Amino acid sequence: MNRQTSETYYSEAKEVILGGVNSPSRAYKGVGGGTPVFMETGSGAYLKDVDGNTYIDYLAAYGPIITGHAHPHITEAIQQAAADAVLLGTPTKYENTFAAMLQEAIPSLERVRFVNSGTEAVMTTIRVARAYTGRNKIIKFAGCYHGHSDLVLVAAGSGPSTTGNPDSAGVTKNIASEVITVPFNDTHALKEALDHFGEETAAVMVEPIVGNFGMVEPEPGFLEEVNDLAHAAGSLVIYDEVITAFRFMYGGAQNMLGVTPDLTAMGKIIGGGLPIGAYGGRRDIMEEVSPMGPAYQAGTMAGNPASIRSGIACLEVLQGNGIYEKMDLLGQRLQEGIEQAAADYQIPAHVQRVCGALTVYFGVDSVKNFADAESSDTAMFASFFHQMLDKGVHLAPSKFEAWFLTTEHTEKEIDQTIEAVREVFENGLST
Ligand code: PMP
Repeated sequence: MNRQTSETYYSEAKEVILGGVNSPSRAYKGVGGGTPVFMETGSGAYLKDVDGNTYIDYLAAYGPIITGHAHPHITEAIQQAAADAVLLGTPTKYENTFAAMLQEAIPSLERVRFVNSGTEAVMTTIRVARAYTGRNKIIKFAGCYHGHSDLVLVAAGSGPSTTGNPDSAGVTKNIASEVITVPFNDTHALKEALDHFGEETAAVMVEPIVGNFGMVEPEPGFLEEVNDLAHAAGSLVIYDEVITAFRFMYGGAQNMLGVTPDLTAMGKIIGGGLPIGAYGGRRDIMEEVSPMGPAYQAGTMAGNPASIRSGIACLEVLQGNGIYEKMDLLGQRLQEGIEQAAADYQIPAHVQRVCGALTVYFGVDSVKNFADAESSDTAMFASFFHQMLDKGVHLAPSKFEAWFLTTEHTEKEIDQTIEAVREVFENGLST
């Protein structure tokens, strides 16, 4: 597959944009490097690159594009928003409509605020939890990604009874000393952390279904235990539903699993592809936020009509009959096809899937936490990624990411993808 124009653009990009990309994973660091494909257009389940090659897309722009690229209903909403004025700096009726839609879908959102990214949404929930509890520390789970604000770029210390270490240059030791990181699905570690730090802990933050070290579900009772332990210590529970909200059903993972957090952060899908974040939760907690309360959060672009109207249009599409059932069935077809190919060609591939989102791990039998995911074979995944790309299947360039189906994928794309997987497995993966 000729990608000469991408090569040229990447060389040019590196002269003007730091590292040639505006978000690090786009540089293919997780798959042994290479030239990122410069995409030009997207339509439904497909992307077209600057050299005219087409790809079946499972990146879905890291999640937001659940209705496929350039969905006509969303495109029309964005065009209309542009024609009506892109930014007003005043409240608009669309924000009311959208907040009410979110609240109806996810009842724990008694009050909502719109921001511009998942990072901002998470960052603000932490501030609100600290304001409400008057406490400083947070507990999070290893491998869950919560955006790039300081407090969540902290790696585990040497165990649940120790605070963390900076996970990025520029994050101070002081900040890291306010964060405790424990393994996902490990209630003993959480209990130990709360035994040590419970009285100082403002919140326990968790992805209710993990999307950031592949698709990993909570074990039965885990989230209930998170709620019980946190609340017994007087801490709040924050769900990071940036990936999971509206991913598996019309609502959050919290609806699907029947567990309720105090605060929720969202992003991605709810913007229909435009920049957005939102956070919300219990009214008495949210009332800490300015102008009602003393915790400050603001934004020139927050609630901008383009993002809001795009988000409304996206949710309207997702209200369609049978949308999630179809993604689930196609996800199952894809999973079974990959598993069959793995069995036929004796490739140690393991698939974990929730509805239309799945991860293919190599060299492991099951993934319950970050350590399991880390131990999966990076070189095999890299070889798989590059070979699939050359066959016109666009995956996320990291063994820790998920494949996302959209409402526009059909049996045709799934079967072509399985055929590509079979060819790649037959050819073999380099290690
Ligand atoms: N939380 C989760 C669970 C995420 O997956 C991400 C992004 N991948 C974020 C927060 C940050 O969102 P954003 O990139 O929109 O800032």
